[in-house]
Formats: sequence, C-alpha cells, structure tokens
Amino acid sequence: MSFNIAIDGPAGAGKSTIAKKIASELGFIYVDTGAMYRAMGLFFLKNKADVNNERQISDLAEKAEVTLKYENGTQHVFLNGEDVSGLIRTQQAADMASATSRYMAVRSRLTSTQKRIAAENDVVMDGRDIGTAVLPHAQLKIYLTASVERRAERRYGELMMKGEKDLDIEQIASEIAARDHQDMTRKIAPLCRAEDAILVDSSDMTIDEVTAVIRKLYEERV
Ligand code: C5P
Repeated sequence: MSFNIAIDGPAGAGKSTIAKKIASELGFIYVDTGAMYRAMGLFFLKNKADVNNERQISDLAEKAEVTLKYENGTQHVFLNGEDVSGLIRTQQAADMASATSRYMAVRSRLTSTQKRIAAENDVVMDGRDIGTAVLPHAQLKIYLTASVERRAERRYGELMMKGEKDLDIEQIASEIAARDHQDMTRKIAPLCRAEDAILVDSSDMTIDEVTAVIRKLYEERV
C-alpha cells in the first residue's frame, strides 16, 4: 500500500517548497494540485470564459485534459498535450484557478486524477482539500499556515528575485487575504484543517525547521 502525506494550507505558507523537499528526501512523488487548478484556469482564460457562468465553465472543463508527467523528479503539467508548467505561474492564472475551483465539474475532474496517482505511488500531495476530500485516509496530514504578513513578505521577496519592480507589499497582502477568503468560504471542499491534521505555523520557522518537524512525524508513522 502506498504512503500518502497530505499538506494543506493557504497561499504562500510554503507548502510547495516544503512538500518538494520532503518528497525528494523520501523518494516520494511530489504532487502540486494547485498547478492542476491553474492549468484549468489557463484554459478558461484562453477561452475567455465568464467565471460566473457555471454551465460554460463546466462544459469547458470537460474539454480540458490536465495531466502530470515527471522529468528527473520534477513535475510538469500538461494542458491538452501542451506543457504549461511555466505559463501557469502568473497572478492571472492563480486568480482564475481560485475563482473557478469552487465548481464541482472542475473539482471532480481533477480530484479523480489526484486520487489515482496517490493510490499507485508514495506521494507528498499539497493543496487545499487533500486531507479533507482527496486523501481522507492519508497516513500523515499537515495543515501548514503562516500569518498573512509573513506570507506577503515571502511573496514580495520571491517577486523581487524574479526582477519585478514597483511592488507594493500592502497590495500583495490584500491579494493573499482575498484568495484565502475565496478558498475558505466556497461551498465545495473549502480550505480547512482536517480534524486529524497536525497544525504547523511556519511564521517564525525556517524551511529546514518545518521539514524536520514533518520528517519526524513521518518517522513516527512508519
Ligand atoms: O496552490 P496554488 O496557489 O497554486 O493554487 C491555486 C488555486 O487553486 C487556489 O487558490 C485554490 O483555489 C485552487 N486549489 C484548490 N484545491 C487544491 C489546490 C488548489 O481549490 N487542492
């Protein structure tokens, strides 16, 4: 039977960095489910879809084939055969993903792929509903969070490193808070801590410290 580690939490809490590191240390597959919602979001953007038109979004979701492939341990996301791993890393794709991830047609299409990957492989899977909806029987569940201020600071740093100019930390913080709100208040599979998930607040922790905590929890379970 495969070993599944579920990591959920809000945007910018460090989920992907930590999940990637743990997966590589344990020789597990890292599954970034947010990338799948972003790929769907990209498809809706390309088709100039109206986010408030559930019928249209649901019909389009049927036409979007989102698949994952791994090259040297790195996840690549494909949308209808095209590698969109780079194209999905925009604020626009994130916003579209968040606005459309509330629809059942979008979620059910992606969660079935996620469940299959986790059934066949040892995985570290991160997202918003992994411990609650996708892998309710995961052997280890983590709810990774951090204050909005710390998450905004980290995002600011990342964007600076990418060479972006005219950054406004207040605006970044309000975008993060708006996405948290949207993800936490939707009707289907909202972001919340599973009852059996262990809370880790990374506000004042380094990546290595968070990784060590999760590694220890894993060692206790094998
Ligand atoms: O994690 P990331 O920021 O890439 O996720 C983009 C969006 O995809 C989230 O804001 C959320 O709306 C959606 N998402 C989700 N369920 C997941 C992963 C992501 O609804 N398991």
